Amino acid sequence: MSDRTLHPDTLALHAGYRSDPTTGAVAVPIYQTTSYQFRDSEHAENLFALKELGNIYTRIMNPTHDVLEQRVSALEGGVAALALGSGQAASTFAVLNLCQSGDNFVCSTAIYGGTWNLFANTLKLLGIECRFVDANDPENFRKATDAKTRCYYAETLPNPKLEVFPIADVAKVGREEGVPLIMDNTAAPMICRPLEHGAAIVLYSTTKYMGGHGTSIGGILVDGGNFDWEAQGDRFPLLNSPDPSYHGAVWTEAVKPLGPIAYILRARVILLRDFGSAMSPFNAFQFIQGIESLPVRMERHCSNAAKVAGFLASNRQVSKVIYPGHHTGEVRQRADTYLSNGYGALVGFELAGGKNAGQRFIDSLELLYHVANIGDARSLAIHPASTTHSQLSEEDQAKSGVTPGYVRLSIGLEHADDIIADIAQALDKA
Ligand code: PLP
Repeated sequence: MSDRTLHPDTLALHAGYRSDPTTGAVAVPIYQTTSYQFRDSEHAENLFALKELGNIYTRIMNPTHDVLEQRVSALEGGVAALALGSGQAASTFAVLNLCQSGDNFVCSTAIYGGTWNLFANTLKLLGIECRFVDANDPENFRKATDAKTRCYYAETLPNPKLEVFPIADVAKVGREEGVPLIMDNTAAPMICRPLEHGAAIVLYSTTKYMGGHGTSIGGILVDGGNFDWEAQGDRFPLLNSPDPSYHGAVWTEAVKPLGPIAYILRARVILLRDFGSAMSPFNAFQFIQGIESLPVRMERHCSNAAKVAGFLASNRQVSKVIYPGHHTGEVRQRADTYLSNGYGALVGFELAGGKNAGQRFIDSLELLYHVANIGDARSLAIHPASTTHSQLSEEDQAKSGVTPGYVRLSIGLEHADDIIADIAQALDKA
């Protein structure tokens, strides 16, 4: 049975695992071990020399992670994946796997604030420059590219504006320039597969929909295996020249017997080995549980969100609804091109009464949780102007799409009528 012939709903339950070879256990076991007994010294030597792939130490690989990695890779149509301790670790590794001091990369301005800080400030301290551009014109990525540009980076469905990124257009610019596109698809699992639109690497904060229950922090990187690093020569010295930290291995050559996995193999055996941002086996298990129901959950997340957006649009206290299915023109066209079977579970709206009304609305909620998170099974709400975006000036808040009365909702799996009833009673008090 080839994974390629199965539907996503089936892959979510079966890819990468049938049963435990020693016990027959059908649920994926939690391999809560730090290390693995080598068969003999030749086996150990082969593993360390990458002549044979296998388990050495849980900081860099683990059988529970392996199932999670194979499963997410199959769902994305990739060739291999790497589980990490958080979404932040996945974003960090995605870039550090290609960039060193003196290099740059180009990134959409519409990204999660934590990623923005990492790229604008912390990577800058390492000598890596992030060039932020407006993604509404894909040519902005080309204009910001030079000989030291190593990748493009964006989010599929960035909040608060919820304007879907033009994946194929920017991927095409990148392929013309010899630069891979990395997509953070955290807010759009199952409804978008960025690799199909030309992205080279996909990443997730598994903390959100993949886990789905708000219990565990994690991240994952998926290698599309569709980018010819070797053909770009000097553009990718970290993959195409001898690596002094691994017996002078040239990653694009070393992987030839294994397939097009140079990117993800280097991320594992160099970055994860050295930075140690490992996921715990227990959390890998939690994410496997989450992914089993992800296709079904995303359907309900999306249908609930559509109902909530429809309700908000008809409410007179709401001056604007921000939802991919309610956008118009070119931005709406992108939502329809890249999202299928729903527009995601995030809904924003603006209260005519501004900041005070936004805060009163939040304080009046009884069912929805007031938290700084998205992608939980429960419905969540936050008022960005007084929380996540409060450090920005009002002008910068406006640029990022946050007006004083903006409220962000992450719609969960409760009955839609109950979610709407809670929102309605809170609006009455706002
Ligand atoms: N990417 C996106 C789109 C996010 O929303 C987040 C967190 O909110 C992250 C990455 C970072 O993920 P984590 O919190 O798992 O480190």
